[in-house]
Amino acid sequence: MRRDRDWARKLLSRIREFLGVEEPEAVRRLSSLDPFKLLVATVLSQNTSDRNAIAAYEKLERRVGIAPDAILRADPVEVEDAIRIAGLYRQRAAALREIAKAVVERYGGDLRKVLRMPLEEARRELLSLPKVGYKTADIVLLFAGGQPIFPVDTHISRISRRLGLVEEGAGYEDIRRAWEELLDPREYAAAHLLLIEFGRRVCSARRPLCGECPVSDLCPSSGAARGKPSR
Ligand code: SF4
Repeated sequence: MRRDRDWARKLLSRIREFLGVEEPEAVRRLSSLDPFKLLVATVLSQNTSDRNAIAAYEKLERRVGIAPDAILRADPVEVEDAIRIAGLYRQRAAALREIAKAVVERYGGDLRKVLRMPLEEARRELLSLPKVGYKTADIVLLFAGGQPIFPVDTHISRISRRLGLVEEGAGYEDIRRAWEELLDPREYAAAHLLLIEFGRRVCSARRPLCGECPVSDLCPSSGAARGKPSR
């Protein structure tokens, strides 16, 4: 089966219809966030549930404020306590302080300066910050910077392999490029959010609903008969 632009269009439109989700509002909401806030939100969401990440973010906003100088001024214990619910709170709080310090020292406290750099340079800068890997950097670049880059998370990695878009051993950059070749850059943000939702609700890691999946005929891993995919 050819994975070309038509295939991607059909895939996304069926998923969108099946899930009945409206991504533009979510895209607008994320795109309107200050880049530092988006960076903090993404760091807090690493390896934790959305619910706990949101609770940690809101408590941090209420008790400390989410800005580089506010985090640097705050008592470190206060920051740890605010984000405790997200887990690994000591390491995360230390990382947030280091990120805040770097943003103040390198960019005068304004992360938007990074987003004005050429894409590859901006990406290198973000990746040099503690706790910032490809996914976190690319989310900031796409949503806050409007850059043409497709962030890949754990759901998107899994779905891409199951759909046969990439080989089993494909890494982050392979998966990112595969989607970038298939989609118009204007679709990256909405497609990113849609695929994550699809991974949560249908093509989940443990119990994919292949029997109900709207794209099972496009998926070589469909295991509808057994209720689980072959990978
Ligand atoms: S058929 Fe199964 S493995 Fe394939 S995309 Fe759908 S839920 Fe995922």
